[in-house]
Amino acid sequence: MKFNLFTLIFLMATLSYVVTLLWLNVRQNKAVAKSFDAVPVEFQEKITLDQHQKAAQYTQAKLTVNHFEVIFSTVLLLAWTLGGGLNALDAFWLAQTSDALYQGVGFVLSLMIIGSLIDLPFSIYRTFGLEAKFGFNKMTPGTFITDSAKELVLMLVIGVPLIGAILWLMNEMGEYWWAYVWLVLTSFSLLMFWLYPTYIAPIFNKFKSLDNLELKAKIDNLLTRTGFKSDGVFVMDGSKRSSHGNAYFTGIGKNKRIVFFDTLLEGMEDKEVEAILAHELGHFHHKHIRKHMISSFAISLLALALLGYLITQLWFFNGLGIETASNHTALVLFMLTLPVFSFFISPISNALSRKHEFEADSFAAKHTHADDLISSLVKLYRDNASTLTPDRLYSAFHDSHPSASIRINHLKK
Ligand SMILES: [Zn+2]
Repeated sequence: MKFNLFTLIFLMATLSYVVTLLWLNVRQNKAVAKSFDAVPVEFQEKITLDQHQKAAQYTQAKLTVNHFEVIFSTVLLLAWTLGGGLNALDAFWLAQTSDALYQGVGFVLSLMIIGSLIDLPFSIYRTFGLEAKFGFNKMTPGTFITDSAKELVLMLVIGVPLIGAILWLMNEMGEYWWAYVWLVLTSFSLLMFWLYPTYIAPIFNKFKSLDNLELKAKIDNLLTRTGFKSDGVFVMDGSKRSSHGNAYFTGIGKNKRIVFFDTLLEGMEDKEVEAILAHELGHFHHKHIRKHMISSFAISLLALALLGYLITQLWFFNGLGIETASNHTALVLFMLTLPVFSFFISPISNALSRKHEFEADSFAAKHTHADDLISSLVKLYRDNASTLTPDRLYSAFHDSHPSASIRINHLKK
């Protein structure tokens, strides 16, 4: 191996990445432990000490798992790169065929399969250990297996042709391949946004229209009042996998949908559901989804242009443990190591996302009642066992939503 200065930079970035993640976990753990004995004053009427302590224990249990995962995945990253894992896998594919496209697809696909197999025990533990222990898991081993099989089929049917197309463009399009790849990726994600609600999501879940007619009338009224045109409001059988509740907004153009998990509707009053819907409509009204899409397309263009430069630099390959420079190894090295560097800008994107949450909350307060949104949020925190007392710095790096008390104080204004 010809390690170089870039190896050192990569090692230092990885080290600061891991240390920061673990340090944030420790801070979060302390913040949760500190408030363990008492429910924060503003929640005392709505959340019992038992519920509060369950949230604390659940948060701490997740942190412990994460601590282990961070260390494990870093060791794995170093083993793949500097340890020569990718180099060995690449050498294997180079020996199988002389066709660059087959080498590349084989390399990326085998790496993805190995990665999923390594992640499998973690995924099983998270579902049947951690989530089950706190009473959230509703998934049977049968569902787990069919889900994994469906994901594998989707990866083969959609993922492999996409990887093939990207590698082909990289091989054939010359110096500015990255602009072509960007066009393909952007069109692909727009297509997926459009297809997802009607064709992909139903592979995993059942969607039906609201059967509560009184609530449906209120919702239709809210949709008309706010001028929102969509494919409709749907209820999803989230209870098939977990008792965690959620609501989301999906799709583009006329294919937009608002989806409520059945687990969220359970225990919410109609006016609370209406307030949550108004929040989601606030995201639409302020064009948050569009802004988010445009900025992610811009970022991916910059990233691809950067890769377009790195791919011509031998130090990039050698510094990360690869002997034979090729398009497919460059692509994989870039994808694997990018999070180590980009992690440090996550507080910026989270701050932006929190700003959007405040805007959506204000919109909901204007079109429904702030009190209803507050009570629905408190129920969501309670039922999902989310901590009410996160550490500020941990939150800045990890949370796309404002913490409970900040968000509720904002709504009270
Ligand atoms: Zn939101």
